[in-house]
Amino acid sequence: MDAGRVLIVEDDEAIGRGLETVLSERGFSVQRCSRGGAALVAADADRPDLVLLDLGLPDIDGVEVCRRLRRGSPSLPIVVLTARDAEMDIVLGLNAGADDYIAKPFRLGELLARIGALLRRVGPAGGDAAVVVGDLVLDPADRSVRRRDLEIELRPREFDLLLLLARNAGRVVPRDRILAELWRDHWGGASKTLDMRISTLRRRLGEPGLITTFRGVGYRLDPA
Ligand code: CA
Repeated sequence: MDAGRVLIVEDDEAIGRGLETVLSERGFSVQRCSRGGAALVAADADRPDLVLLDLGLPDIDGVEVCRRLRRGSPSLPIVVLTARDAEMDIVLGLNAGADDYIAKPFRLGELLARIGALLRRVGPAGGDAAVVVGDLVLDPADRSVRRRDLEIELRPREFDLLLLLARNAGRVVPRDRILAELWRDHWGGASKTLDMRISTLRRRLGEPGLITTFRGVGYRLDPA
């Protein structure tokens, strides 16, 4: 399981540890710093896929950390966490190069959804580049799917689901991660909906065996 590398920069021990636990459980490899200086060193040395950045840090101000991170890595997704309610901080955070912000106290589902959205946008497979799995070709740019040169019609949610599985082809994608990334806030009925979408996908792909169910765990797409 490799959902990506996340660097957490948070001096509040309880929040930092909580985030680390939750993200680790979801397959992220997590590194945690409580100071801005250490975060800059870690970001430079370890090249995270995404940074969660608290603004109120004991040494360097979070906004300045954000600016420097951005200077070093123009495409690095940065999500600012802030307990400061003032709108100016939010604006400053974004002007400093943050991609998104979330106010504390935040809802976990919302945070995970934003992380998922940002990582998808940057994309481990290179953003809008086509994803090829066996004879299946997905093109995020025009959201088309072809199999052996035949176009497969999918609804938007089905496309997103297949893209997520395709970008992780050969690996089990946990149900929790799929639900967090694709269904955002609709935790209640989403689990059942996911099962239905998977059935639909199998039918549309014309070869049910391409997607394997790991009951209660997740799904895996394999090349034909
Ligand atoms: Ca703080």
